[in-house]
Amino acid sequence: MARILITSAIPYINGIKHLGNLVGSQLPADLYARYCRARGHEVMFLCATDEHGTPAELAAAKAGKPVADYCAEMHTVQADLARGFRLSFDHFGRSSSAQNHRLTQHFAGRLADAGLIKEVSEQQVYSHADGRFLPDRYIEGTCPNCGYDRARGDQCENCTKQLDPTDLIDPRSAISGSTDLEVRETKHLYLRQASMRGRLSDWIDTKTDWPILTTSIARKWLNDGEGLQDRGITRDLDWGIPVKRGDADWPGMEGKVFYVWFDAPIEYIAAAAEWAQAHGKPDADWERWWRTDKGADDVRYVQFMGKDNVPFHTLSFPATIMGSGEPWKLVDYVKSFNYLNYDGGQFSTSQGRGVFMDQALEVLPSDYWRWWLLSHAPESSDSEFTWENFQTSVNKDLADVLGNFVSRVTKFCRSKFGETVPAGGAHGPREDDLMNALRVRISNYQAHMDAMEIRKASSELRGIWVLGNEYLQDTAPWSVFKTDPDAAAVVTRLALNLIRLYAALSQPFIPDAAAEMADAMGSDATVWPDDLEAALSALSPGAAFRVPDVLFAKISDEAREDWQARFSGTRA
Ligand SMILES: [Zn+2]
Repeated sequence: MARILITSAIPYINGIKHLGNLVGSQLPADLYARYCRARGHEVMFLCATDEHGTPAELAAAKAGKPVADYCAEMHTVQADLARGFRLSFDHFGRSSSAQNHRLTQHFAGRLADAGLIKEVSEQQVYSHADGRFLPDRYIEGTCPNCGYDRARGDQCENCTKQLDPTDLIDPRSAISGSTDLEVRETKHLYLRQASMRGRLSDWIDTKTDWPILTTSIARKWLNDGEGLQDRGITRDLDWGIPVKRGDADWPGMEGKVFYVWFDAPIEYIAAAAEWAQAHGKPDADWERWWRTDKGADDVRYVQFMGKDNVPFHTLSFPATIMGSGEPWKLVDYVKSFNYLNYDGGQFSTSQGRGVFMDQALEVLPSDYWRWWLLSHAPESSDSEFTWENFQTSVNKDLADVLGNFVSRVTKFCRSKFGETVPAGGAHGPREDDLMNALRVRISNYQAHMDAMEIRKASSELRGIWVLGNEYLQDTAPWSVFKTDPDAAAVVTRLALNLIRLYAALSQPFIPDAAAEMADAMGSDATVWPDDLEAALSALSPGAAFRVPDVLFAKISDEAREDWQARFSGTRA
């Protein structure tokens, strides 16, 4: 038994995520967590909402709510959706937690003690009417490049030119519209990442087993242009973690908060501390996952994320951890993903284009989405969701191959032998062939799951389902029954045991259907078939079963066309 720490990139608090976000981190992380638990490993699976920064403040202002209330509400919404998709987090935390405040301030203090933080004076826009500094997105004005009159302080939406707020002509506050602005000097803290470039580069060089996508992005940031840059870790905002040096005040930093990119990954650690508190456990219980001096030296730590998050996880967060000089756990494996596109274009949160997590669950149960998304995970390149492909995949893989097998076997048995596992007969060469084929495929399936090769694993799982259908087709118990009921009983008994086997193997991908299959067989879905012989004779003659509900309904052309039209844009 191994100990495996798994984190999914934490979703931003602002709004409901689309299926492209889901398949880029949380869903594959859940697949792996479920698989590791099923194999008997001790797992800690953590995620959280990322709650700080200007977008949260702006969204709260738009919703007419205090930002803390807005974040609390949206956290509940996201937690409910995670449950709806059966994401099996051990804890779904919040980056605004007291634990994250304390840890973020602690890390900043350690980094400062190690000489890895410097103060930089910057010119920033101050609004007298609003009584505050205005970060980039809070300033609007006319673009000096194209004349667009609603350019933002960081970029002109119209011509895409990158801007400094001081470049804007006739700048005004995006909060109040006030033009009573002044450029003032303000001080910020920078993490001296550039000085850690050698250490980070040496560390990345040891990660020869990481996906190319991960290491190539990390090396690009390390080496391109002038190489890894120092980064600001503070902001003039109200909402966030107040800048402190450990427990102590930080002279000159009064009224400032840490920048969201600095505190968000520290929430991975804080989420474990939140988990301990939520379950009334002592600190030692979470520290054994995170401190190599307190038991975490045998932990394997795996992170899941979209490719846009790779620089923060391979460079910035490791710089924070290494720079602290304390024995915190560094990541062992970074599984990163390309993008999922939507029906000839991109998912768009601002345009409401594509299927969002809440809408998906209104339309179909989560297993349908989990199966499609995981079996089409954008691993080696971007992939695309189309309704035609979704319909085909659901109807063939889930309804025709798996659902039909379960339905045929259980209904046939009920009609000929009743609702108990039939006795009689003994295994012959065809059963031996099936066992051998299953052994090979299950071994491949496990190897792909261990390696987090998700598409390959899904294809192997489908192959395992197909073996059952081929076996039924070859042995045709419905026709053999008339002349040789014992031969039909052998096939039926083995096929009922296959349903139980399929429940265990399929549970990481389609947990609800797996639970229904296992329950119908009077069994426990989490028993992994380490011993295939034993697994396929677990249901012995006389054991009761029931015919399960329809596992997967087919998607009609009409439904597909309706959904295609409904999700083409302009989310209500
Ligand atoms: Zn412009």
